[in-house]
Amino acid sequence: MAQVLTQFDTIAAISTPIGEGGISIVRLSGEDAIEIANKVFKGKDLEQVATHTIHYGHIIDPETKKVVDEAMVSVMKGPKTFTREDVVEINCHGGMVVTNEILQLLLANGARMADPGEYTKRAFMNGRIDLTQAESVMDIIRAKTDKSREIAMNQLKGGLLGQIRELRQNLLDTMAQEEVNIDYPEYDMDDMTGNQMKEVAQQVSKKIEKLLLTAQEGKIMRNGLATAIVGRPNVGKSSLLNYLTQDEKAIVTDIAGTTRDTLEEYVSIKNIPLKLIDTAGIHETEDKVEKIGVERSKKAVQDADLVLLLLDGSRELSDEDKELLDFTKFKKRIIILNKSDLGSKITREMIQKITDSPVIMTSILERNNLDSLATEIEKMFFSGLENSANQVMVTNQRQAGLLQKARQSLQEVITGVDSSMPLDLVQIDLKDAWDTLGEITGESTPDELITELFSQFCLGK
Ligand code: GDP
Repeated sequence: MAQVLTQFDTIAAISTPIGEGGISIVRLSGEDAIEIANKVFKGKDLEQVATHTIHYGHIIDPETKKVVDEAMVSVMKGPKTFTREDVVEINCHGGMVVTNEILQLLLANGARMADPGEYTKRAFMNGRIDLTQAESVMDIIRAKTDKSREIAMNQLKGGLLGQIRELRQNLLDTMAQEEVNIDYPEYDMDDMTGNQMKEVAQQVSKKIEKLLLTAQEGKIMRNGLATAIVGRPNVGKSSLLNYLTQDEKAIVTDIAGTTRDTLEEYVSIKNIPLKLIDTAGIHETEDKVEKIGVERSKKAVQDADLVLLLLDGSRELSDEDKELLDFTKFKKRIIILNKSDLGSKITREMIQKITDSPVIMTSILERNNLDSLATEIEKMFFSGLENSANQVMVTNQRQAGLLQKARQSLQEVITGVDSSMPLDLVQIDLKDAWDTLGEITGESTPDELITELFSQFCLGK
């Protein structure tokens, strides 16, 4: 990884979401950022102003002298900037036309259109952040709930980076020790170093194990816990949905180009983000025919990490209930006996005769005992993990995959020592583990991979 500031050309992009808005920001980064901005700005000589200051003026087309917009321009000289390069941000009036015109002016005056994620990539290339932090920038942008944003922020501060560096250092120390022994074979310390290598491999392995344990939670926090609410018509699904979406802010994402069926709705219940699956079917309750039925539930259940199965506790179990109980039995599920205010024909004991799944007796209508829903979810998915807010967490598949690979190499080290393999061969596995861990932080990540990773970013970041 380049720790030295590398000089790149100057890039420009619109950094705020495309569309109507109060203000938009067009951002420049690179050697000529200030010079280029100065060419299109009237109000002050930006090349003379102090760093980290903001200035009022107008954006003009230097050729036609036409005034394009009124703007506030921030000038930030490297290295104390996001990319470590000189950065200029033009705050202009929102709206596609004006913002685009300003961008075009900058491009005409020497800037190049930024690639997706290129600002973050530069921050990485210039050594300001590591890959785990770069990934957290992406997570922050995409965060669907407060909790997932909080965890991403934590990662941005370098929590995972610190831990990985420490593990790598442990391996490096051991490798260095082993090099000494290979170079001076007259010191016959093979036994000792073999055991030492094994010991370190075990220690590091254990710590990796711990990090991997957070990966499931990290995935949930990042993507939301995919949750299907199922039950036969009239048991209270849409009432539950209303409860969840009313009390907490629901974020509804309508993915362009797909039908309403794949509408994704996010809610958070006691800070656990739930991604509700197929709520479209539940919303359409006015239409009795369209009510979510067994067939449709089956589809939702397939994709779910968690199934909330509702039964009307005030009535006998119907055949449809039994069918639902049966086909969700291999899923992590919580059985909700609703309508307790109307009396109970189905008891907890009856359900517990057929399954170990936790049972909650509630009246959604009367908002009774709904807190225990969050408690059960916590028990099911987060038991054994302490206060997750400040915990270092593995938040994506890339990181988890590499941790597994590193653990595998360490396992080879242990087997190698146990079977008295020559230590310079064992050393190769140790080095592999060290390299693999380095890929997590980007310290030994191939260039193509880095390019690929950053291309997943959105434009202007
Ligand atoms: P869905 O078809 O599963 O979505 O069920 P709904 O949420 O539309 O509920 C069906 C009916 O049951 C509605 O009239 C709700 O007001 C009512 N309902 C829901 N929960 C309760 C409850 O806890 N107690 C009582 N008495 N009625 C409820």
